[in-house]
This record gives sequence, C-alpha cells and structure tokens, in this order.
Amino acid sequence: MKITDVEAIHLSLAKVEERADGTQDTLIVKVHTDAGITGIGEVDSSPHVAKAIIEAPTSHSIAHGLKYLVVGEDPLEIEKIWDKMYHGSIYYGRRGAAIHAMSGIDIALWDIKGKALGQPVYKLMGGGYLKKVRAYASTLFGKTPKETGEIGRKYRDQGFTAVKFGWDPMGQDEKTDIALVREARKGVGEDVDLLIDAGLCWDAKTAIQRARKFQDYNIYWLEEPLHPDDLDGYAKLSEAVDVRIAAGEEESSRASYIDLMDRGKIDVVQVDVTRAGLTESRRVAFLAHDRKLPCVNHSFKTDVNLAASLHFLASVPNSFILEFSVATSPLREKLALEPLKMKDGYVEVPDKPGLGVELNQKIVDKYRVV
Ligand code: MG
Repeated sequence: MKITDVEAIHLSLAKVEERADGTQDTLIVKVHTDAGITGIGEVDSSPHVAKAIIEAPTSHSIAHGLKYLVVGEDPLEIEKIWDKMYHGSIYYGRRGAAIHAMSGIDIALWDIKGKALGQPVYKLMGGGYLKKVRAYASTLFGKTPKETGEIGRKYRDQGFTAVKFGWDPMGQDEKTDIALVREARKGVGEDVDLLIDAGLCWDAKTAIQRARKFQDYNIYWLEEPLHPDDLDGYAKLSEAVDVRIAAGEEESSRASYIDLMDRGKIDVVQVDVTRAGLTESRRVAFLAHDRKLPCVNHSFKTDVNLAASLHFLASVPNSFILEFSVATSPLREKLALEPLKMKDGYVEVPDKPGLGVELNQKIVDKYRVV
C-alpha cells in the first residue's frame, strides 16, 4: 500500500472569538492510499499555519513540506514516517507547529492501519488497559464566580463525576480567584472531583499562594498556572504545595516533556494527541510511566481528537481520566456521524476498525474554509 495524497481541510465557525476555546475551528487531515483506504486525523494548532506546513513545497533537504515527504510511503510504516517527517522539517520544526502538523498525518496513518487490519487503533498500539474511560467535563469558568457555580451544578446533574474549569477570569486578583474556586466547589458539590486550569496566569510565588488557598476546596489538580517556559517556577511550585500540578498541553516533543518532568517536577503529564501525534504521545506516556507519573489527554477539539485520545489512553498503563470538552460548538458536537457520548460518567473506547470515527460530510461542507 502507498500514500497517494494528503488533504489538509480547514474548518471554522463564521466568527472565531478571542477566548480559550479550540472548538471554534480545526484542521482535519485526510491521508489517501492506493488501496482505497482513507485515514482521518486532526491538528490542534493554528489551522492556517499547520495547513501551510503540510502543503509547502520543498525548500531544502531538511525543510520540506510534510505532504512531499509522505506521498509514496507505505502508510503502515508509521514510526519510520514519523522520523522521516521529523528529520525532513528540522530547519523549521522539532517543536510546536511542525509537530502539530505531523500529528494530524500520524493519527490518519493509525486510522489507515486499523482499517487495513480490521482492528481498533488501541489494540494495534498494544493496549486494552481501559475499555471505557472516566470523563471529566471540561469547561471555561463563568464570567463571575456565581455563574461558575451554576455551570458546575449543570455538569454534575448530567452525571459527570469530575469537572474542570479553566482560563478567564482566573488571574485578575486574589479575591476573585478564590471566589471562582469556592463557587465551583459549591456548584459541583462535595462528591465530584474539581480540577482547576489556571491558564498560564501567574508567576511561581503567586501560584504557590493560590494553590495553598485552593486546598481549602479540595481541588484534584491545578493545571498550567505558569508560563510553559518557567520550568524552575514549576519545580518551586510542585515542591512547595501538596496539590497535584498538571501541565504539558503546550508541548509537542518528548524532549520538552522530559524537561517538564525532570526539571519542572510536575505531577500529572498532559499530552494532546493532535499536537504530539499518537506515536510521540505514547513515547511521552511511557517516559512518564518510568517516572511513576500519570499521563492524561488534553482535548478541546472535535471527536477526531477525542476518539484518538481514547485509543491513546486505552493503550498506556498509566492513565485514568479523559478530558471531555463540553463546548457547544457544532464542530465538537456534530463533526462525527456518530458523536461520542458520556454515559454514567464514562466514555467508551471505540471498538470499530481504525479510530472508529466517520466525518459528517454535511458539517465538513458547511464549515469548510475554501
Ligand atoms: Mg488546559
């Protein structure tokens, strides 16, 4: 079997607002083969940038566009293709957008392999650790502490046993920050795990102060309180407080994750398969496992990301919970023909060949950016 083409399909709502919500647009990747099998992947990045990285013509022996590198390759040779893309993009790659774009192709290759062999992706990756994954509702904070509490109540009532709130307006001042967490706890009640995503808003000393206050509300983890480059700040924070510190969604290569774990001393490693691929995400998860750390998904896109995340989590020994975005974008809710649903607090790992996700062509046509 040979790869014949790579399509980078930019989907977007009519208006993309400036807020921490990645479900407003996306880049879907289709990898076509001469066997008639097409694989689907997704990229969580700037769709414009990632599309250019896939489609760019060749410029230098280590500055190729990704499509140029993969057309003609055997799609079952996934790790070899990952290394070819990594090496062929070194001038502009190694971290960030280039790896994001590689991830879309990588996920599509796993989908092809599953379809070709008639097996779900998690089994091909050696998995089956989980058949269903406990899901946390992942949402943004309300505009006010009161609204945050109401949002928490809503997801508890829907049956989620864990809820995460993130980003604005956290970080304005101490009083508001504490009120947001207090009302979040009131809203979800005492029996639901409460996760807080600070959204890169503090320096290390402020984060230490906040984490100590937030312990009064029994938060399960504090996510991304610091700039991702502040590894020494992460180490100071992790060593100063009891609450678990989670981070990693800004990273895309295992070299960065090694820094975050060994220098930043984080407690929970978060990987987005649409930024690190299934191939590299699994390497990161095993590096975390060697360090006795849990590894979980970051996911705030469509069901392509979510399905790939489920296969990833099911294929590693050190995961336990699924980020399940509850954003109301039609790209998240309707892009899959059969949307993935939470039932009794869990989401089942797809068991069909490949990723187990088919695109709803009507939604693709409606939101495609020409
Ligand atoms: Mg986050």
